[in-house]
Amino acid sequence: MTNKRYSKFITNCVHAGNGIDKETGAIRRPLTMANSYRLPDDASKLNWSGTDELIYTRTTSANQIYLQEKLATLEGGEDCVVLATGVAALAGVFFTFLKSDSHIICTNVSYVAVYRLLNQYFPEKYGTEVSLVDTTNLEEIKAAIRPNTKLIHIETPGNPTTRVSDIEEIAKIAKAAGVLLSVDSTFGTPYLQQPLALGADLVIHSLTKYINGHGDAMGGAVIGKKELIDKIKREAMVNIGGAISPFNAWLIMRGAVTLSLRMRQHSESALKIAKFLEAHPSISFVAYPGLKSHPQHEIAKKQMSAFSGVMSFGLKADVTTHNKFVNSLELIISAVSIGHDESLIVYTGPTDERNHFYPKEFQNGHLRFSVGLEDPDDIIADIEQALKKSEL
Ligand SMILES: *Cc1c(COP(=O)(O)O)cnc(C)c1O
Repeated sequence: MTNKRYSKFITNCVHAGNGIDKETGAIRRPLTMANSYRLPDDASKLNWSGTDELIYTRTTSANQIYLQEKLATLEGGEDCVVLATGVAALAGVFFTFLKSDSHIICTNVSYVAVYRLLNQYFPEKYGTEVSLVDTTNLEEIKAAIRPNTKLIHIETPGNPTTRVSDIEEIAKIAKAAGVLLSVDSTFGTPYLQQPLALGADLVIHSLTKYINGHGDAMGGAVIGKKELIDKIKREAMVNIGGAISPFNAWLIMRGAVTLSLRMRQHSESALKIAKFLEAHPSISFVAYPGLKSHPQHEIAKKQMSAFSGVMSFGLKADVTTHNKFVNSLELIISAVSIGHDESLIVYTGPTDERNHFYPKEFQNGHLRFSVGLEDPDDIIADIEQALKKSEL
């Protein structure tokens, strides 16, 4: 399937993966809710598990292909595989590229499912060797490399610390060691950062977040060289079975059209709100890559065009008061997930299983705040009234 790539990002947001429907002339490719596709007259030579031909929706669906075209174009990659969730994409990468005698280096504060897969399940079930390191420290990564290291996995900005790892420098380390580098770029999105251009081998997204952007469909994606993506499709998609629903692929395709417009607004609003919080006497800390006080602000500026919409912060208060603050918010909703159109906040409390890996200021519990598309002045007013109600 040919797919023209335009020089400007937003033009690709609108057009990549779309086309004229041959049967009806509709100017949108249709939603195809079908489990199976008509076989050729002579199916004897068919590769029944082939992932390029349309045979069965677990091995590829029409809407999956359209979304893969769009995301490969937006990331500037050769190919893409779209799966049911972000975790299916991450687990697919680990399943495909790690064996029992392999070693992986992973960021020590990552999405919680990644932490459990690599800290517990892969070592317990397969004997895979894992080093969890602070990937903002290049020396820690270099020191962790072993002869059997197969993969370095980073998450930047990281969830929920917003730690930023230097993609270009880590790619150099990976290349010199003959190791693959995968980057969870969910917070960044292809509009704000492009890890493949900086030397990464695989970019992973939870499409559930910014790329869909509307909080109504889950999905995951991996983008990279065709040879690597084919291996993930062949091994993980077909045989583990985390295929995306065609309907969700269709919804995410629609959401992605406005990605750059939304990311610009999320980033602009988040910076304004982060500055407001940083100046407030009741706030104990704010972690946002756009603030000069962020420990990796310079690296963020080097590799991102803006700083996305997620920050973490704390109150100079105990657990009860943190809960009172969250429950006093009227506009901002207490719920998990990030990257939706509405603002979302989560107070985790001080009992997270990964607490010892967090920066010190996070260890009393923290508020992870995903700034939505509402007017930032309304969001700030909501925070102010909730702080007052909490006597802060
Ligand atoms: C949410 C998230 C994931 C997991 O994605 P799901 O779609 O929920 O499976 C992975 N990485 C990051 C950084 C996330 O924020």
